Amino acid sequence: MKLFDTPTQKYVDFTPGPVVGIYTCGITPYDSAHLGHIFTFQTYDLLQRRLEDKGHEVRLVRNITDVDEPIYKKAAELGISYIELAEQETALFQSVLTQLDFRPTYAEPRASHYIDQMAAAVTQLVAGGQAYRLDDDIYFDTTQDVSFGDFCGFSDRLQRAFMQKRGGDPSRAGKRHPLDFLLWRGVSNQQDLAAWDTALGRGRPGWHIECSVMAGELLGTPFDLHGGGDDLIFPHHECEIAQSTALGQPQLAKTWLHVAPILYAGEKMSKSLGNLVFAKDLLQDHAAAVIRLSLMKYHYRTGGEWQPEFLDEATALLQKVSAAEATCTLAASALLLSEVRAALDDDLDTHRIWHALEDFGATAAGDPATEQAAGNLTIVKNLLGFSN
Ligand SMILES: [Zn+2]
Repeated sequence: MKLFDTPTQKYVDFTPGPVVGIYTCGITPYDSAHLGHIFTFQTYDLLQRRLEDKGHEVRLVRNITDVDEPIYKKAAELGISYIELAEQETALFQSVLTQLDFRPTYAEPRASHYIDQMAAAVTQLVAGGQAYRLDDDIYFDTTQDVSFGDFCGFSDRLQRAFMQKRGGDPSRAGKRHPLDFLLWRGVSNQQDLAAWDTALGRGRPGWHIECSVMAGELLGTPFDLHGGGDDLIFPHHECEIAQSTALGQPQLAKTWLHVAPILYAGEKMSKSLGNLVFAKDLLQDHAAAVIRLSLMKYHYRTGGEWQPEFLDEATALLQKVSAAEATCTLAASALLLSEVRAALDDDLDTHRIWHALEDFGATAAGDPATEQAAGNLTIVKNLLGFSN
């Protein structure tokens, strides 16, 4: 199958072995999952389904970033413990994905369960001279890494802008280079409960080291494919690569596949803008297959503006498909199945899947469908996640 690889900006042959390791950056559990999240994770779910259809065993790891600054802030606002908030939101997220017929993951590691391994990785980086202390904190020294920035290919100016916007601190005084990123936050305030006693002292890991460590622990390196939203290309994934390389793992992932955002009111859905559409709300009025199919109106590399009328279009199309299913010919069912498989193999071309379903929905026949035709349609539903 062909997929579009981020660092090379090329369609590459994705031909993994019998066991496929996929790591995708998951949610920070402090607010409900919106459609942009679902769109991202559905992309990897479709990939997983097609790989399983081809006979692979897929080990998909989707982490839970339960050690991250926004959780502490939100928990303080709500007056609850950050652990309670993270647990609550993680459970809600998992229930939404189950309702939306997502395939089970191989693991959903929580950052808080890997603190010792993260502290050990940071200790190794300090010992190797690739990291340094600044007050109570520890930073990765990007001046030691000549290839820093190669993965994203962004200009220095853009890297600084994204780092500022996406949780970094390029202007902090005392850093060796503005793009040096946090590996460890020292926490001396005993009232701050989001801290662990480790060989590095009391504190918590930075966001980037969490994924490097969990991916390496669970999948080994290099694994087959690394994913996430395209806003993670820089700094998050660039930093993951820098750390893993410095830790002696020259290649983190063989292929990188990033998903573009779903916009609403012209902007990326985001908590700060308040332009969110929540999956849990859509599930009140719409079947899971309808929501999934409406998101297939967008290709993962382009995303696009959320249009609620796509839900009506998806509902109508699924009705036509279901009517055609009862009386379709074996040839029509076989054509649909081969088209869906070919579309997924062609860089997860969900537009082509829509066309294939429309063509199938327009086929008319008289006799009841044979068992073999029904079997083909069951495979199609499995490929697309239309069982709920
Ligand atoms: Zn990550």
